[in-house]
Amino acid sequence: MKVYFVGAGPGDPCLITVRGKSLLEEADVIIYAGSLVNPRLLDYAREGARIHNSASMNLEEMVKIMEESAGLGEKVVRLHTGDPGLYGAIQEQINLLEAKNIPCEVVPGVSSMSAAGASLKREFTQPGVSQSLIVTRMEGRTPVPSEESLESLSQHRGSLCIFLSVQKIEEVVSKLSKGYPPHTPVAVVYKASWPEEKIIQGDLATIAKKVKEEGIEKTALILVGDFLKGEGEPSLLYDSSFTHGYRRGE
Ligand code: SAH
Repeated sequence: MKVYFVGAGPGDPCLITVRGKSLLEEADVIIYAGSLVNPRLLDYAREGARIHNSASMNLEEMVKIMEESAGLGEKVVRLHTGDPGLYGAIQEQINLLEAKNIPCEVVPGVSSMSAAGASLKREFTQPGVSQSLIVTRMEGRTPVPSEESLESLSQHRGSLCIFLSVQKIEEVVSKLSKGYPPHTPVAVVYKASWPEEKIIQGDLATIAKKVKEEGIEKTALILVGDFLKGEGEPSLLYDSSFTHGYRRGE
């Protein structure tokens, strides 16, 4: 049988895809990322499913479980937070499985980035403000290529979503200030879609102090850019004078 890499969504158990939920319900074995996945998602598992927390495992241990279970014809779900394609470390798992000829499939999920945008009721891409969204992180123990430093990305002044970096908010702000003006809006969303969600808003000059005061050090996204003001121009798509494939303008 197959190994399914499933996006669990940002936290709220209703924000997993229908397909992801079905796979969880049918799985013989579930390996979940215990540090971030909401344990309530495991309520979807059937009785008797074998459930492993990957927090204490290394790559080889994980792949060994996948290999043994797949060999027995079992259905394995590897449950990742948000969308597995963002900071999920799934590529190394997929490559090992492919090298062993174990079939696998990826089921996308709702990223915490989408959940944070939704909580703020802000569109990342607003006409006249920004039509680009950069997804990045600051280097930690995992390096970031120097071409992608926050200093250089900030030169674009577009919408920015920064993962895995809130614990270094002061450094983030100082690097971003190389490109964005000090009054650029910044929002920090802690545990988007969880009951304990918190939203902190400010600008480049004020956000670090506010985040420190709230004691937020993990499970948060830093969103940066004028899109946070929500003052973009109306889109041409619904403009009465604009003709496109589905509608003739006046
Ligand atoms: N694949 C995930 C990201 C995993 S990396 C996704 O698509 O969301 C882990 C980082 O994601 C955390 O350090 C934090 O920056 C962010 N994160 C995960 N869940 C979050 C949530 N509910 N709210 C805010 N940030 C979250």
